[in-house]
Parts: sequence; C-alpha cells; structure tokens
Amino acid sequence: MTLPMAVPAPGLPARVRIHEVGARDGLQNEKGTVPTEVKAEFVRRLAGAGLTTVEATSFVHPRWVPQLADAEQLFPMVSGLPVALPVLVPNERGLDRALALGARRVAVFASATESFAKANLNRTVDEALAMFEPVVARAKAEGVHVRGYLSMCFGDPWEGAVPVPQVVRVCRALLDLGCDELSLGDTIGVATPGHVRALLDALNAEGVPTASLGVHFHDTYGQALANTLAALQHGVTTVDASAGGLGGCPFAKSATGNLATEDLVWMLHGLGIDTGVDLDRLVATSVWMAGHLGRPSPSRTVRALSHDVSHKEQ
Ligand code: MG
Repeated sequence: MTLPMAVPAPGLPARVRIHEVGARDGLQNEKGTVPTEVKAEFVRRLAGAGLTTVEATSFVHPRWVPQLADAEQLFPMVSGLPVALPVLVPNERGLDRALALGARRVAVFASATESFAKANLNRTVDEALAMFEPVVARAKAEGVHVRGYLSMCFGDPWEGAVPVPQVVRVCRALLDLGCDELSLGDTIGVATPGHVRALLDALNAEGVPTASLGVHFHDTYGQALANTLAALQHGVTTVDASAGGLGGCPFAKSATGNLATEDLVWMLHGLGIDTGVDLDRLVATSVWMAGHLGRPSPSRTVRALSHDVSHKEQ
C-alpha cells in the first residue's frame, strides 16, 4: 500500500482524535437500510482499524430516522468494544432509551439557524435548547459525556450565509447547558478556511476554549480538508469524519457530503500527526461497506488505495 511520506508542518497538533460518524451520520443519510448485523460488524471493523470514538447509532424516534430504527438491537451488540461509542439523543425519551442500554456518551443536536431548527426539529432555536436542557442535565447527573452538535454553522440552504455572532450565541448556550464538547457543523459544505478561522476566533473571544471544540466539515464544494487544516492551525484536535465518505446532508444539493475519514487520515499522517488509525484496515472496511451499499465509496483515498486492498485480500 502507498502511504503518504510524513513531512511535519509547524504549528499543528501532535495528535488528532477522529470522531468517526459513518455508522450514524453516514448510514442515517443513505437511502437504503443496512441490516443490523452489518452495522454491528461495521462498528467492530472501525474500532479494529484504530478509531477510538465511533458514533454508533441514534435514539431518535424510528419514524424520523427509519435507517437507525434498530438502535435498541444494535447498541448491545457493540457496547463491549473498548472504544467510546456516543449515540444521538433528541430528547428525554431518547436519553432514557440510551441510558437503559448503558450508553456513557450521548449527543444532542441543535441548529444555528431558525430554518433548519424548524425543518429538523420543528422548533425554534431557543425551543430546541429548552428541550435539551433537561437532557443534558440528567446526562451530566449520571456522569455521561455530552456532545452538542451544531448544524448550519457557516451557511444554510434557506438563509444563505450564517452570521458568526449567531453561531457563537448558540454555542455559548449549549456549553452553558453543560455540554462537554461541541461539534461545529458545516452541514451544506459551503465554508472556506477564512470563515472557519473567523468563527473559531469569535468563539475564543466569547470564552469558548478551543479544547471544547470539534469540527464537522462536509466536502460538498471540495473544501473539507482545507477547512480542517485551518482548524488544526487554530489548535482544534477533534475532527469528525465518516468512513468512506458515507452519508451527507439531505438538504445539500450534491450527493457529496461528509468528509471521508480516509482522506482525513491521509492528510494527517502526511503531516506526521498521530491518529492511531490503520489506513489499510480502514480502506478495507469502506470497500467492504461499499459492497453492502451497492455503490463505490466517493472517497478519493479509498478509490486510490482500494485496488491495493482488494489485491491484498485475495
Ligand atoms: Mg455530517
């Protein structure tokens, strides 16, 4: 297998934690529903490839996300793995379901814009925050780690560019509720590196520490790695990515969505940044999953390396 030559660049972190979202954000946005056993094997293989945080599923009502309606069956099949397995919870009922199965990490999901809050949660931004308040409070009382996803941090398909202060306000509110970590989502992939830097600077100016921030870039316009590099230069060390580039956003015009974990790992390893990920095993996992989904991975790195992988497996 060809691997990037590691040539470190100044001003970058020594290690990055990849928050792998393929099994949740990825499969949630795929058209077809994957059998539960295949999902469980996917999570096992992702953990086996060295990913230390593997978002497993969502406890949203099955009516809204039928692709992940098997959360109750799936979670116990993977919960013994020695990795962090966050799950999405929209409300107290979802939290109850997750806690009953022993989940130790949960995530709530807010929107920086009114349009997406209405579309995704049928609430205003502030009504959604009010809904999350008891969820976060109860999770924290149970000693459970809480991530706060924030969608539409850069652009919104209905509202256009999203003002930085508007995003900062909701970030501040999520942290004030008790979230341990935020994930800044470029849900339609329109961000560019200067915008990323401006948002991170504005968050720091409002007292939000960089250590509490992760970034969640979409590659819709081919900007995800450039934006990631801008975030790394700012000191961000948590980066969301989806194995094989699975999933995307149903509201974005293009099918290209989540930053592919393999593309991210290629860049990070090329920069000499440690991720703990075995790229060969990760590519093999995405090739295997693409077989189940019936279409090739959109990841450039998977495409570039998958011949080597299939050759090796023969
Ligand atoms: Mg995403």
